[in-house]
Amino acid sequence: MSAPKMIVVLATRNKGKTREMMEILEGYPVIIKNLDDFGPIPEVVEDGATFDDNAYKKASFTARVLGFPALADDSGLVVKALGGAPGVLSARYGGPGLDDFGRCERLLQEMKGKTDRAAAFECVISLAVPTGAALTYEGRVEGVLTEAREGDNGFGYDPVFFYEPFGKTFAQLTAEEKNQVSHRGTALHEMAREFDKVLIWLKQQLGSMPGQGGQCLSGK
Ligand code: IMP
Repeated sequence: MSAPKMIVVLATRNKGKTREMMEILEGYPVIIKNLDDFGPIPEVVEDGATFDDNAYKKASFTARVLGFPALADDSGLVVKALGGAPGVLSARYGGPGLDDFGRCERLLQEMKGKTDRAAAFECVISLAVPTGAALTYEGRVEGVLTEAREGDNGFGYDPVFFYEPFGKTFAQLTAEEKNQVSHRGTALHEMAREFDKVLIWLKQQLGSMPGQGGQCLSGK
């Protein structure tokens, strides 16, 4: 019989993120689930001051509510000339009426005439257990904001984020190319690289919870 598998819940309903995580952790004794595998649970208000705060909030809340280790990420675009904006407000930049296209246009408008166009995507991943203990992984990628949208791939601010080493915007890259260098890819791969140790840590944490035997399922 193979090693027992541990359940890890992704604090998302996003199918793309779930697939990406399953691929990265393929071969490890884990069963990846997401929020769609459970009944309705209350939404977490993402009102933290940093990506770290929000990622930890989502991961620890989900772990506590569901009783399994949970993993969450928070990410966004940080623009030097705008004092770090849109930052943690990246998804809501410009107000509730805007979509990804509108937010890019709004950003280009704000950047009109600015010579310092340095920007970075940042991502924090938090893996928490129900007691609240957590591991954190970070990723960051530097780029330059364009003067106009270029490319149709990706999402969010990808069309205005020029990645100099490839000479293209993120929206002109394939998903594979972007994952190799992106903030989220870097943070995920950092966690995957030491996943053997992460599993040991998870077992220790869950084993010390009252009434918990390690939240494992038998492997087939
Ligand atoms: P979330 O952390 O996945 O919720 O992302 C927050 C927001 O940051 C998104 O809605 C996007 O506006 C922006 N963002 C995060 N990652 C990316 C990316 O890889 N490309 C473009 N925009 C991103």
